[in-house]
Amino acid sequence: MKNFILIKLAIVTFGLSQPYDIVIKQGRVIDPETNLDQICNIGIIGNQISDITKNSINGKIAINAKGLVVSPGFIDLHAHGQTNSAHRYQVKDGVTTALEMESGVAFIERWIEAKKGRSLVNFGATAPHGFLRSISMVKNKSTANKLINHFSKNEMKIEDSTQNKVKSSEEDEKLKKLYSSLSSSNYQSQSPNEIEETKKLIKDYIDKGALGIGLPVGYYLGASAGEVFEIYKFAKTLNVTVYTHTRGFGMPGIQEAMAAATTAGASVHIVHANSMSLGEIETTLSMVESAQKNGLDITTEVYPYTAASTSLESILFDEGWKETLNISYNDLQWEKTGERLNKKTFYEYRKKGGVVIIHMMKPEWIKIGVSHPVSIIASDGMPYAPGAHPRTAGTFSRILGKYVREEKILDLITALKKMTIMPAKRLEKIAPSMARKGRLQIGADADITIFNPNTIIDKADFSGLKYSEGVETVIIDGKIIIKEGRIIENVFPGKPILSKYKK
Ligand SMILES: [Zn+2]
Repeated sequence: MKNFILIKLAIVTFGLSQPYDIVIKQGRVIDPETNLDQICNIGIIGNQISDITKNSINGKIAINAKGLVVSPGFIDLHAHGQTNSAHRYQVKDGVTTALEMESGVAFIERWIEAKKGRSLVNFGATAPHGFLRSISMVKNKSTANKLINHFSKNEMKIEDSTQNKVKSSEEDEKLKKLYSSLSSSNYQSQSPNEIEETKKLIKDYIDKGALGIGLPVGYYLGASAGEVFEIYKFAKTLNVTVYTHTRGFGMPGIQEAMAAATTAGASVHIVHANSMSLGEIETTLSMVESAQKNGLDITTEVYPYTAASTSLESILFDEGWKETLNISYNDLQWEKTGERLNKKTFYEYRKKGGVVIIHMMKPEWIKIGVSHPVSIIASDGMPYAPGAHPRTAGTFSRILGKYVREEKILDLITALKKMTIMPAKRLEKIAPSMARKGRLQIGADADITIFNPNTIIDKADFSGLKYSEGVETVIIDGKIIIKEGRIIENVFPGKPILSKYKK
């Protein structure tokens, strides 16, 4: 902060009349950390906020924000879409930082290299426990070596073939096969030696910039309670948070995560509390609230939709799913075509593999989730596809349009807290840069979303992705990326968000 005070002093002392690179004029400036909510002007120099004032200020670029809300850029803790085709929808939804915390990212150093200087939004990820445990298993040694060998020689490709109509190469197919050959490990638990090997890999990922441990045990039910507990204990020794998609559906899996974290002294974030808790969402949120009151580092998130989405070939659709979720084939929607499934297509598509949308939650559960004081808003946005789950494109505008403006189940500043300061605080212990994000304060990073509170709304639905409306300007790292509602092409201001342990 000292530097900023000095800069400010210099500006005052020398009375520079046009010191700012960008000024945002006459907007309703909301800082969810300090509860500032006033008509102000903001001055930006380089990539930082240098002034917030009622005085008139000038800059090289002036943005008129009259009638608009000026908010810190939205921070999404849960974005599987990590290509620029997905980032376009995110930024149009007001997102300036999109993180893959649930599954994590394999070969993270390659991924960071591939995205550096080429990403629309800020990005980061956890260490992928599911992947690392599978390559630590003795039976997968040869597959693991092939993958490691591949990425020791080759760059990682980050753009997806759907958008650019690039046919996937032979090499891509080979990689896909190698990854999917690991999936039988999802039904097995690790030996003590394999657990130790996994821990070494996790540590290595944290040292390479990973932001915690992604532990979606719901996708590898073979992992024993003991194996999982070892990872929580290890998270404690590393002083990092576990982000978990809990085991099964309903309270037992959520309770397992909370018990493991609490007894290990570790910190845990439970992803998509709405789809894990189903009708017991109130219980999950009330447990998280109570944990926080008792000084435990437990947090959670929700997305504002009544459907979930995942791979049809995953363990979630093993025998028993209809009973667990209280739904049937017809409640499943095939992402590629939008069609509803029946018994025949279910088995056919499950064999082929692909994404389904699962209509399985009630609107009142989502209302409880969205409005509860402890819930962070995170999209769980899917990799880009034209028919992807609408949360991929509309989560944040939907909160502000449908739940704040139309249904009035939470107020604007509370909603903004859930998208800015709460996720920033979740991360700032491990990622120092997050202490400057999620805030509109002097010295904060210039990641800013300006939107019209009277018009902002999601447009994507279950028939396909569409850009959200009402986000007028987005600034990332001091660079304008959306101007008058339009994406500025060929600007890639996104930076990696890295752990403080990065060597
Ligand atoms: Zn999940």
